[in-house]
Amino acid sequence: MSCIVLLYHGLYRHRSEILGKPAREHVWIEDFHRQVGWLRENGYALLSLTRGREMSLQGKLPVKAAILTFDDGKRSDLLLAAPVLREMGAEGTFFVIPGWLGNPNIMTASEVKELAASGMEIGAHSLSHPCLTELNDSDLEKEVRGSRTFLQDLLGQEVQSFSYPYGNVDARVREAVKRAEFTAACTTLRGPVSRFPDWLLLRRWGVEGGMNLDRFCELLSRPGPTVWESATEAGKRLLGMPRYLRWRAHLLRKVGE
Ligand SMILES: [Zn+2]
Repeated sequence: MSCIVLLYHGLYRHRSEILGKPAREHVWIEDFHRQVGWLRENGYALLSLTRGREMSLQGKLPVKAAILTFDDGKRSDLLLAAPVLREMGAEGTFFVIPGWLGNPNIMTASEVKELAASGMEIGAHSLSHPCLTELNDSDLEKEVRGSRTFLQDLLGQEVQSFSYPYGNVDARVREAVKRAEFTAACTTLRGPVSRFPDWLLLRRWGVEGGMNLDRFCELLSRPGPTVWESATEAGKRLLGMPRYLRWRAHLLRKVGE
């Protein structure tokens, strides 16, 4: 069995659309098209997270399965990603932040409804994208349960999947997600889905901008994170997420100087 969860943020058609934005978080639509096409041609079932989980629990997960996930609710989810997925007969899971709806380049509430109506799964990515581990119990509850309630009211259907902002999670945050009755939740830890995964702590492979098809295939074939990736994860835990994010921003500024 080979099951992978892929993590995307935004897609773009022209370079001018991502000027001043982190290039690694934006995948060119042509690359995305080739990646999904490659998965299809190579026998991967392209499933939403909820369907993948259900099939796995029933012992019916296809030998090769890929779950495409998209964080942050960008407008390119609706305009660029969903049409490609539909064309390929695929599903995807889109994690939306209610507090960001209608911001520049982010979907509006009615666009999220449109995406759901087109057969894509909508999941929650908290109410306002904070570092969840830093919140007190009541704010944590608001961010996690509140995002589920908001989206369920908006869509008139159950919302089962969650994605931790910044991949930031500890035992208390996982428990809050479980209490809010989400059935699956994604981290940013890298790696394939293990045979008997903790469905509330799923690993993903992040697909970065500029990744050609060879690098994409190489990513999919990897048994787990590299030593550097594991060290970065350990660094995040050690520093705590807010300090890690400050340090990373500082480093990126230095590289840009
Ligand atoms: Zn995010």
